[in-house]
Amino acid sequence: MKQTIVYGPVLSRRLGVSLGINLLPRVKKICSLDCLYCECGWTQILTKNPKNINTFPNKNEIKEAIVEKLLETNINIEHITFAGNGEPTLHPDFPTIVNEIIKIRDELSPQSKIAILSNSTTLNNKDIRDSISKLDVKIMKLDVGNEETFIKYNRPAKEIHFSDVISGLLQMDDIIIQSLFANGKSGNYNEKNISDWINLIIKIKPKLVQVYSLDRLYPSDEIIPLPREKLIEIQTKLLENKIKAQVF
Ligand code: SF4
Repeated sequence: MKQTIVYGPVLSRRLGVSLGINLLPRVKKICSLDCLYCECGWTQILTKNPKNINTFPNKNEIKEAIVEKLLETNINIEHITFAGNGEPTLHPDFPTIVNEIIKIRDELSPQSKIAILSNSTTLNNKDIRDSISKLDVKIMKLDVGNEETFIKYNRPAKEIHFSDVISGLLQMDDIIIQSLFANGKSGNYNEKNISDWINLIIKIKPKLVQVYSLDRLYPSDEIIPLPREKLIEIQTKLLENKIKAQVF
């Protein structure tokens, strides 16, 4: 769990030198999913509507933290990235915070791109879609191709429906889909899920798909890493369908 609002810079495999912004509380993990592989551990508050939770950092604290970090950092920041201890778009002031971070970036670090790692569960909210659309790099999670695997593997809050996630993704342009595949009793690597997932990817038309497997600590003992050659097979199937794909 990240203990600060701004963390890093870290050297990310996908984003280069990246400064992370954690909009989530530092004490308990809040997320709309409870993925079997989450490096932050099990979700303690599983919800899509955290309106009554008052432990989120406020927008002034967030602004101050990013300004302070950008002023003290003397290396080139390639990305300023919304990520952290859960789903960043759950912050009740997410749209305002996006506008403020864009202003700060323009003023203090105009060469940096602003990125987000989101789990895609809030995209049925137009304000969230509009805010994410303002960012330079939109990395959206989609690990599964059907509701049954979504429930087993990503373990959503009860108010989240897989059809809404897909309908939200279909309304986004210029996105990168990020998908983590795992083997094991509760893994998402099976013929039906891969086939359903590829069919959805073809409809969503992302500009890039990034596939990877477990390479950090994870809380479930019902999943195991997928060998790299299986990831390459998935990449090949995407390329056959003219979808650009990378294996990490
Ligand atoms: S969506 Fe991300 S933060 Fe939330 S449980 Fe899944 S991996 Fe963890």
